[in-house]
Amino acid sequence: MRDTLLAVFAHPDDEVFGTGGTLAKYAAEGKRVVLACATRGEVGEISDPALATPETLGAVREAELRCACSRLGIEELHFLGYRDSGMEGTPQNDDPLSYHRADPDAAVRQLVEVIRRLKPRVVVTFEPGGGYGHPDHIAVSRHATSAFDLAGSPEAYSEAGPPWQPARLFYSAIPTSSFLAMRDRMQAMGLDVSMFDNPALRRRTFSDDMITTVTDVTGQVEAKLAAFECHRTQHNPNGLFGRVPNELLREMMAREYFAQARPALASPEAVKTTDLFAGLEHA
Ligand SMILES: [Zn+2]
Repeated sequence: MRDTLLAVFAHPDDEVFGTGGTLAKYAAEGKRVVLACATRGEVGEISDPALATPETLGAVREAELRCACSRLGIEELHFLGYRDSGMEGTPQNDDPLSYHRADPDAAVRQLVEVIRRLKPRVVVTFEPGGGYGHPDHIAVSRHATSAFDLAGSPEAYSEAGPPWQPARLFYSAIPTSSFLAMRDRMQAMGLDVSMFDNPALRRRTFSDDMITTVTDVTGQVEAKLAAFECHRTQHNPNGLFGRVPNELLREMMAREYFAQARPALASPEAVKTTDLFAGLEHA
């Protein structure tokens, strides 16, 4: 049986920066790589009004995500069908259909059903702080963790298919040291680093001690850039991709960082691997 890797994220483009190289690498090695995405990214700025209107944005972003999946080698894409909640404090946050307001039981049941149907050995999602704290990122991390914990239990969601327990759950995270190193590099190049000094962002970097797995995706940087290219409605010239020099951007994109969340580790700081599947033998 082919190993399956399931990534669980909230919006189109969440899959690229922190995990796209790892997903592409395992796909290139012959593993089945699948993505569950909670929303179609219906809310948010449209980089170019020629590309979409607020009414068409969900459909356009779905097509953009399908394009990115094909460039990363993601074989199957499953939408959970929620609405993008928008950034914290915006009116879209109050939309009753928005993902961060979703009934947790229904959201977890959907993910349990996806896990039982696809039988992944490894699941990846955002760290509990959601990367930069987007309410949908926090929600998807929580729901994916609960689904991982319940998918193997015959008592839980018995209508959602026969139990399947994935072997490992990883959180994608930006370690504090990488964040600060990047800031220093950009400052040394005379570039604007004000975005790094946003206290909310800084508080949300992830302790290096918790990082268990660093993947070298140097060979997948082109695929990541090609996948990012698909997400045209999200190309913000003032965003990270627009502001960081190409060479530095490629360097940043060549490593991806993960913290093993399940099975929980007594001493995560003692574990350092380069492979999410390390030591997982087929039964
Ligand atoms: Zn997102």
